[in-house]
Amino acid sequence: MRKILCTTLAVSLLVSGAVMIACGPGADAQSTGGRHAGAQDPGAEPPTRDRPERWVDPLIGETIHFTDAQWRTRLTPLEFDVLREQGTERAFTGVYADNHRHGVYRCAGCGAPLFSSDHKFESGTGWPSFTRAIAAGRVATTQDSTLGMVRTEVHCARCGGHLGHIFPDGPPPTGQRYCIDSASLDFDAR
Ligand code: FE
Repeated sequence: MRKILCTTLAVSLLVSGAVMIACGPGADAQSTGGRHAGAQDPGAEPPTRDRPERWVDPLIGETIHFTDAQWRTRLTPLEFDVLREQGTERAFTGVYADNHRHGVYRCAGCGAPLFSSDHKFESGTGWPSFTRAIAAGRVATTQDSTLGMVRTEVHCARCGGHLGHIFPDGPPPTGQRYCIDSASLDFDAR
């Protein structure tokens, strides 16, 4: 029995180690739980919880502000954790990492356009990855010094919602990898 338990433990450690290596430099996953738990079937249409009634194309530079109490009424617990408290969804659990449809990725908080499928690429990290934002001024960045490292945090320029981080290991033409949480996005198929 002891041998079986040791073998099972060793296999579990190997699998979890392989997942962390696959995530690369952006392996900042924290278990946030919630409704995104569970990997999706690669061939399946992503489940949607998009809210087109919120989608807007505001002027660049326009900002909006809600209190935390107001945000809690607009967002699911996972969305609030990611967008308003800088949380990170677990890799390979979000609904858009394997989304290959053409369209615009909007802020799940305020509906502003943030990223285009034209700039999405397969990073293998388990998070939706883009080489750039949809347009200058749609996202903004700050320096994030949490977790013992310095990273570039990216957020929605309109509502301030946390989206993810930018890493300098992306493909051409920008060489940048916008590593974004699915929970911070709505998908507007075009
Ligand atoms: Fe926003």
